[in-house]
Amino acid sequence: MIAKTFPRGGSEIPHRKEATEHKPIVTLAPPQFVVIPLRQHIGAPCKPLVAVGDYVKMGQKIGDTDQFVSAPVHASVSGTVTAIEERVLLNGSKCLAVVIENDGKDERHVYPTKPVDKMSAESIRQAVREAGIVGMGGAGFPTHIKLNPPKPVDTVIINGAECEPYLTCDHRLMVEQAEALVEGTKAIMKAVGAERGILGIEANKPDAIEAVRDMIGDAPSLSVTVLQVRYPQGAEKQLIKAAVNREVPSGKLPAEVGCVVSNVHTAISIYEALTKGIASYERVVTVSGGAVVDPRNVRVRIGTPLQALLDFCGGTLGEPAVIVGGGPMTGPPVASLEAPVVKNLSGILALTAEEVGFDENRPCIRCARCVNVCPMGLTPNMLGALSHHGRFSQAASIGLMDCIECGLCSFACPSKRALVTWIKEGKAGWQAERAAAQAAK
Ligand code: SF4
Ligand code: SF4
Repeated sequence: MIAKTFPRGGSEIPHRKEATEHKPIVTLAPPQFVVIPLRQHIGAPCKPLVAVGDYVKMGQKIGDTDQFVSAPVHASVSGTVTAIEERVLLNGSKCLAVVIENDGKDERHVYPTKPVDKMSAESIRQAVREAGIVGMGGAGFPTHIKLNPPKPVDTVIINGAECEPYLTCDHRLMVEQAEALVEGTKAIMKAVGAERGILGIEANKPDAIEAVRDMIGDAPSLSVTVLQVRYPQGAEKQLIKAAVNREVPSGKLPAEVGCVVSNVHTAISIYEALTKGIASYERVVTVSGGAVVDPRNVRVRIGTPLQALLDFCGGTLGEPAVIVGGGPMTGPPVASLEAPVVKNLSGILALTAEEVGFDENRPCIRCARCVNVCPMGLTPNMLGALSHHGRFSQAASIGLMDCIECGLCSFACPSKRALVTWIKEGKAGWQAERAAAQAAK
């Protein structure tokens, strides 16, 4: 079968997945203290539902809000709340967090369940909300909202591309938990009223393709689509184009073309919530990079300090040049290893200077490589330069807000210009300008 892909831009980039792709997932014992941030998602932060001194069970809801775009948070261990205070997050910002001292008993709070085929779409959404499930591929968008699309949807696409270098947590989950993935996909289809589910997997994961195909069997509504190994194949618009040949218009959501896209880990968490009453309090994180002694995929409780995760993998060889949270193309540098693991953290990468390469912002030589690789058909050299010089409205007029921040332009640039960094700054600047103009009106 010919592997499918998107038609414009993109590039083959080094995979660097060998260190972890064939190793089974291992579990890290929970630490003595976990730090549960009250915002682990796009949207409004939660308010604490517990007080210092309270006893909580693993899986118990400890933060929630009545704001529409949000998702509750849960205790990841049983024990006593010792503090509710500001704690540092991976990117250096701060957030109110619930600190729990682990009593080592893992006493579980289990949510009621019933067979998915007896659940209505609304009751699936409610259960997903109560379990605090958010997009675990990095976006962190509350999943119960995604399961209530604004337009009719006929297709659910599971994003098994995992196109970022180093990351293999979704790959391992597809191999080791194919049944949960397939059943989670069916639950998503039921929630959104879609008649077909497509699991898109890049061709460099033949064992995952086989495991998922075996699990699907002859189910008529489900299929695996093999995707070309090409970055950013896992970006939502590129995945939809490859899988069903539909183009999401600028500024619109996948529902506009009848699709809902879910990450692999998210679909598995939905299955766990619906069938076992398990809230979102743990996840699998890829710990890799040339500076890590023993790279692995680790199942870890939410709230575990990043340092404990790195230590579990043997620590680092010398001082890494940079530690990244997520994939190297889109993930932010880690500002503090005291920061906790959160629901949407797919990887911790400790990279050597050799892996990172030069980073020196030389002048543009007008080679157009950034233009050729851009999967959105943009002119990143122009967008970067205009944003860098504060000319936000001009940048917006040539597609600034269509940039999906894949980072490929910066990666491809021989002058190592910080194009995507400038573009992100430009987006923030343009939004601030518009908000100020709106306020002035
Ligand atoms: S980061 Fe934006 S501008 Fe750069 S290649 Fe990706 S989509 Fe294009
Ligand atoms: S790839 Fe870099 S050097 Fe080449 S045109 Fe784009 S910004 Fe300029």
